[in-house]
Amino acid sequence: MHVVLVGPPGAGKGTQAQLIAARLHIPHVSTGDIFRGNVSEMTELGRQAATFMNAGELVPDAVTIAMVRDRLAKPDAHAGFILDGFPRTLVQAEQLQTTLAELDENLDVVLQMKTDDDELVRRLSGRRVCQGCGRIWHLDYDPTSVANSCDECGYGLSQRDDDRPETIRRRLQVYREQTEPLVDFYTELKLLAVIDATGTVDEVTLRSVQALMEARSA
Ligand code: ADP
Ligand code: AMP
Repeated sequence: MHVVLVGPPGAGKGTQAQLIAARLHIPHVSTGDIFRGNVSEMTELGRQAATFMNAGELVPDAVTIAMVRDRLAKPDAHAGFILDGFPRTLVQAEQLQTTLAELDENLDVVLQMKTDDDELVRRLSGRRVCQGCGRIWHLDYDPTSVANSCDECGYGLSQRDDDRPETIRRRLQVYREQTEPLVDFYTELKLLAVIDATGTVDEVTLRSVQALMEARSA
């Protein structure tokens, strides 16, 4: 399946994408993860992206689109993918349609994950990410059994640089201004499924999987 997740920072896109990708055996493509990988490896792409990311702004469309086009052309993405954090602008959404048409592929469904702003801030403030396997944890909602050590691989956890209060506020604003218009775009294409992203991770996974099944049988 070719799936896109849309939702504000902290909605749980990465968490759900990791679970769904494992279940459906399709790659989880997170533009944020690809950018962060480039920042830590100090590549030219990472250098270009870092200033925007630390300010809570979007990396320019041209850079982001070229990166995603390369990623989706890789063989493992042909049978499907779950895109997390892309597209984030109308230009990116339009380009994604073009890229998929060139690859003779189509989106099956766009899951819009919805929760309220107070919960987003709580989720982002407590988010911790494993430095080894990338598993997403939360200090209160999904804690590791030993503090600061990933239950899956034993590596240490880190807090993202952009999960600070002032950057969080800006990222939420950028989402409302630049990304929320995608909801109308995908509604018109009859691809949108709205998911209530409140409740436990398991509850949200159940709702997401149900929406995927409905899209598959449509
Ligand atoms: P996004 O990718 O949308 O920015 P994440 O998947 O990284 O969001 O989730 C943000 C934080 O919220 C993480 O710390 C994650 O563990 C936590 N989280 C995700 N889903 C839920 C949920 N349903 N209930 C409580 N916490 C959640
Ligand atoms: P995320 O991990 O999805 O929260 O993304 C972290 C940051 O990476 C964002 O705040 C942006 O600076 C950048 N980024 C990720 N995806 C995109 C995208 N599709 N377009 C522009 N910038 C992006």
